[in-house]
Amino acid sequence: MPDDGSKLRDVSILADEGTRLAVEVSVARMARLADALVTPEGTATASIGFTREQGFAVAEVQAEAFVTLRCQRCMQPFEVCVGSDSRVWLPHSEQAAERVPAEAELMLAPEGRLRMAELVEEELLLALPLAPLHGDHERCVARNDEPLEAPEPTAEVQMPFAALGALMGRARPDEPKRPVKGRRRGD
Ligand SMILES: [Zn+2]
Repeated sequence: MPDDGSKLRDVSILADEGTRLAVEVSVARMARLADALVTPEGTATASIGFTREQGFAVAEVQAEAFVTLRCQRCMQPFEVCVGSDSRVWLPHSEQAAERVPAEAELMLAPEGRLRMAELVEEELLLALPLAPLHGDHERCVARNDEPLEAPEPTAEVQMPFAALGALMGRARPDEPKRPVKGRRRGD
């Protein structure tokens, strides 16, 4: 049965025994993560393996959760799976943390103890997208980067007038006519 992550654990023992833990934490119990979401629903699952490196306990954390974020383009909520796979060094004190290699990710385990739920929460917070977008919008952006048709010369010629029209508060000039080739007739 998976651990709910609430128990304070001795990371030195876990590292020395090479323990691997299966953890399941409800999002509602991770306050900082829940605050970053539209609704505090869902459950995070994680597999956390422990090793020792340069004298430090190190956790290999694979965590994921289905969460609800707000799309930054249309402001609608949408569900997305966020996940992380990283190695986190667990020094016992600020002083010990200074000896952790600079490029390594670390989390303090005061007196060598840590709740797995805190570790999972930290990893998922880091995994949240900064500007969440619906999958559809992402495809939209990709399409805009690569125009399907070459711009028509007339469109370029009209641009200065469009800008002028906007400056003078007028309606935009007519859009350049689109080719009728692909248009379907009414059945
Ligand atoms: Zn959207």
